[in-house]
Amino acid sequence: MAKIAVLERKCTGCGVCAGSCPFGAIEMKAGKPELNAACRVCGVCVKACPEQAILRLETKTNDVDKAAWRDILVFAEVSGGRLHPVSLELIGKGLELAKNVGYQVKAVLVGHGVSAFAEELRHYGVSEVAVYDDPALGYFRADAYAACVEDYIRSVKPSVVLVGATSLGRSLAPRLSTRFHTGLTADCTRLELRENTDLVQIRPAFGGNIMAQIITTHTRPQFATVRYKVMNAPARNAEASGTVLVRKLPKRVSECRATCVSVTPVPAKKSISDAEVLVVGGRGLQKEADLDMVRELARLLHGDWATTRPLVEKGWNTNDRQIGLSGRTVRPRLIITCGVSGAIQFTACMNGSEHIIAINSDPSAPIFDVAHIGIVGDLYDIVPALIKQLKEARA
Ligand SMILES: Cc1cc2nc3c(=O)[nH]c(=O)nc-3n(C[C@H](O)[C@H](O)[C@H](O)COP(=O)(O)OP(=O)(O)OC[C@H]3O[C@@H](n4cnc5c(N)ncnc54)[C@H](O)[C@@H]3O)c2cc1C
Repeated sequence: MAKIAVLERKCTGCGVCAGSCPFGAIEMKAGKPELNAACRVCGVCVKACPEQAILRLETKTNDVDKAAWRDILVFAEVSGGRLHPVSLELIGKGLELAKNVGYQVKAVLVGHGVSAFAEELRHYGVSEVAVYDDPALGYFRADAYAACVEDYIRSVKPSVVLVGATSLGRSLAPRLSTRFHTGLTADCTRLELRENTDLVQIRPAFGGNIMAQIITTHTRPQFATVRYKVMNAPARNAEASGTVLVRKLPKRVSECRATCVSVTPVPAKKSISDAEVLVVGGRGLQKEADLDMVRELARLLHGDWATTRPLVEKGWNTNDRQIGLSGRTVRPRLIITCGVSGAIQFTACMNGSEHIIAINSDPSAPIFDVAHIGIVGDLYDIVPALIKQLKEARA
């Protein structure tokens, strides 16, 4: 890190620095230069100052030895007795990233009765699956799970740790990154690995108006969480590879203060993220009752329905059926949007869908930029016509 400093005892207040700054970042206040947020630390003022009263200071950082941290670790989440599919998607992405730098992909399983999943993971190209299987891990306690994953990270020193952005993962990942005094980027939508092993963590920022590229330059490991359905799961190999390593329970687990008094499972709800076909209503719908059209089309296509956020805000729908940054990420085989403009906060969470059909009366609507088939027209003509044709075809 670098910054500009003014030596007050040498400064005569001549103002040459302010005149020289190409960014207008120096203001003369009470005869002294003051730097504002526009400063790019370019150093032009340092050269311009006739009194040598301006210095460019470099802050020394304790850079980590990046070579000592290698490979990619995926936290393979087991919850409710099943391996969360995001774990396979992360392994898929990990394998893709690993190729560039000659890394391997490892997985870690934590829980009780999770050993069986280790064998399954060996069919997805991992080089090692570490297992912490103990009754003390029978239900999720963030500190106990973090103690296990921390123990494994300290032993294998991965450069990158990928965690699903599930409720469990969102609780676990920040605890881990804090233990290693390193960075964590939540809800990444893209990941790239540079040759120098810096992970470029890409995610929407500032309300989705920019795609930020975040890098953890001075510390390791690099933690990132990724939502379900954002990455591709690899195909299952018939042959198993890699090894399973049964790990001893770290002592810290017995020191965990949280105990579980009782568990009340919430009945599993069907999620729009699992739908193969989705019909989506947007603000082009004039009244709540018109959502019936959307539901009817979804039913005829054996799919599910969802909406954009404004319809949730109107109280026409609940958040669990909202697609977008503040809703769910979906990746169906077919998605039909009806009266949806295609704001980035919406499209960022559905543009991985296999076939996108957009119906919108405005030919310049941004939804057409991501659609594979665009229908310019009134949804009140097109959707009933589609319903009629499907019904006739069925009959
Ligand atoms: C931090 C943040 C998070 C957000 N998160 C989300 C999110 O999770 N999900 C989300 O959806 N939004 C989200 N938004 C809001 C987002 O920016 C958009 O405002 C929203 O997606 C717009 O929804 P819409 O397309 O239904 O409505 P509009 O943008 O109003 O679009 C309506 C479209 O319908 C078309 N139309 C109108 N009448 C007809 C007709 N008769 N036939 C055909 N087409 C017609 C219009 O041409 C228009 O393009 C978020 C915003 C912020 C700042």
